[in-house]
Amino acid sequence: MVAPVPIHPITDTTALRARTDRARQDGQRVGFVPTMGALHEGHLALVAHAAERAELVVVSIFVNPTQFGPGEDFERYPRTLDADLARLAQVGAPVVVFTPSARDMYPPGDDTRVSVGAMSQVLCGPHRPGHFEGVATVVSKFFNLVGPCVAVFGKKDYQQLQIVRRMALDLLMPIEVIGHPTLREADGLAKSSRNRFLAPADRQRALAISTGLAAVHAAFSAGERRLAVLTAALRAPLSQLDSLDYALLSDADSLQPLDERVGERVVAAVAGRLGSTRLIDNVVLGEDPSPHVSSR
Ligand code: AMP
Repeated sequence: MVAPVPIHPITDTTALRARTDRARQDGQRVGFVPTMGALHEGHLALVAHAAERAELVVVSIFVNPTQFGPGEDFERYPRTLDADLARLAQVGAPVVVFTPSARDMYPPGDDTRVSVGAMSQVLCGPHRPGHFEGVATVVSKFFNLVGPCVAVFGKKDYQQLQIVRRMALDLLMPIEVIGHPTLREADGLAKSSRNRFLAPADRQRALAISTGLAAVHAAFSAGERRLAVLTAALRAPLSQLDSLDYALLSDADSLQPLDERVGERVVAAVAGRLGSTRLIDNVVLGEDPSPHVSSR
């Protein structure tokens, strides 16, 4: 086996632009996968998917301060750059890693934010004020710097994916936004950079989330369409969590609340805490497999 070529990240915005300009001049398509690092197989699947659609893939690794609220885990968010670079080198596709500084992403005097309306007000919105504004702002900055024709986001962060799609449409960004299925552990837990914070007993209790999602998936697949019955199936196991931010069924496109009977494509979404770790997960009913069927 040939040893993977080490990746040297680009930290400078001008150098990044020069690299992607050159690729475009050479007629290459540029793909983009934004991440906050601490990469796992879920992230790598996004990169592999982008590599199928573009000749050059830019992967950003940036723990974006503006999407964390006061008291959230910005400081303790895992930063594992060397391991991340080694993993990306194994993907075996032409990957450029971009690791900008906060000062480059937010120049002195920075005073511009991008905010997406109603979609940011539901689900995680009320629990993480300013979070989606931080996400939309940093993603639009990255889109401007990278100039991709395709960008891949995980369905694990379904609300984020829908908000980015809305933003790209509304701001006339000529970028195809692709949602990639959630990768899970064999027992159903969605892979997440934050799972490493779960103590063993909490890791076990965290399965309540995928169990609830599997229950609502089973009920929906059996033909149940009553919102109250589906919501009850989703929530039943969630008493295992230390606290629950929400467990809801919403319109899969607009993310808005549903009436008494649900349609043929709806998202079931959960956010809750185990100890000091907040986990989110979802399944799009009518589209995704059951979370207990591993999508690896
Ligand atoms: P993050 O580094 O957590 O900001 O995530 C970067 C990208 O990876 C986002 O588009 C996430 O939705 C995606 N992602 C995170 N976890 C998973 C997963 N388990 N499966 C698929 N995509 C994921």
